[in-house]
Amino acid sequence: MKRFALLLLTAGLTLSLPAQDGPRQNINIPDIPGYHTLKGDFHMHTVFSDGLVWPELRVIEAWQEGLDVIALTDHVEYQPNKDDVGDDRNRPYVLAADKAKELGLLLIRGGEITRKMPPGHSNALFLKDVNKLDTANWQDAFAEAGKQGAFVFWNHPGWKAQQPDTTLWFDEHTRLLEQGLIQGIEIVNYREYYPEAFAWALEKNLTIMGNSDIHGSIFQEYISSGPVKRPLTLVFARERSVEGVKSALKEGNTAVLFDGNLYGRQEWLKALFAACVGQEVNAAASGSEQHSIFLTNYSDIDFRLIPGKDAMKNHLIYPLDLPAHSTIVLSVTPRQLGGPGKLSLPLGFTVDNMFVAPDQKLEVTIRF
Ligand SMILES: [Zn+2]
Ligand SMILES: [Zn+2]
Repeated sequence: MKRFALLLLTAGLTLSLPAQDGPRQNINIPDIPGYHTLKGDFHMHTVFSDGLVWPELRVIEAWQEGLDVIALTDHVEYQPNKDDVGDDRNRPYVLAADKAKELGLLLIRGGEITRKMPPGHSNALFLKDVNKLDTANWQDAFAEAGKQGAFVFWNHPGWKAQQPDTTLWFDEHTRLLEQGLIQGIEIVNYREYYPEAFAWALEKNLTIMGNSDIHGSIFQEYISSGPVKRPLTLVFARERSVEGVKSALKEGNTAVLFDGNLYGRQEWLKALFAACVGQEVNAAASGSEQHSIFLTNYSDIDFRLIPGKDAMKNHLIYPLDLPAHSTIVLSVTPRQLGGPGKLSLPLGFTVDNMFVAPDQKLEVTIRF
């Protein structure tokens, strides 16, 4: 959309009509009790390293796509455009901050510690001064991030350029973990999912992250090249603020949404499913012989439910598709009601697109 700004100067009064940034496409993923569900991307590049866009455009893209929080994380040690834009690693944040404030998008100051494997690349967020991470050896860069109170996560741990054969965890990562200098790991980067990293995250209590690592424009890399959208890190934050996001990331309150699948710890995915899908008894169609309920999906995420053994026994045999923003009705003729006076019949289902571990899907109970 063409930008316009009209200035009217009348008797010392300046009125300015707003420049237009195009409409925001809201993402509907409900809050869970006690937490805001914030949609974030914590890994992106600008012209201040090897990206193709100006920092402010990252903010506009993210706002238009419905995101709530982003971090600009240019490479600390790799600045191919420095002859044109200088080498102050805090500039991307500074140049994007006003636009983020105007649009109500949370913006986090960050940088990518870009080293060979091990330990590979890591993002440091909530930095005070990114320039101080430009150190001769990588240990000092992590120590400085720790000194600044940063949240640090290992990027693209299965990236073929650095892990050509198998995705390995190195002793260096163990040391960083023991020193409290890494707290998270990307299980999704750009268009890749790393099941090994998901298993490590669960085992070693690392925060689960999924980010775009975008270098070109969002239009060029995602929108124009098919239906797969940028990965999102869903952050469950007690308050909608940079501090709120920081606490949530440090506590591990996240899940990842990528290509229609959700990945996360059981407790969070369970709460998220309960927030997304409402269950209501259809009284008119329920009696002693039959029980009917409405299942309503309030979210933008399509769910597929696979009936468990008890559901099958009660004639719910086929997978149930529960598309975004839709309601389905389910009826069972209960084989057993669980004793006199008990009207509810709990039946177990597996949510086909919610992963609580690489080989394990979320189990939910639906009450008839
Ligand atoms: Zn990287
Ligand atoms: Zn990167």
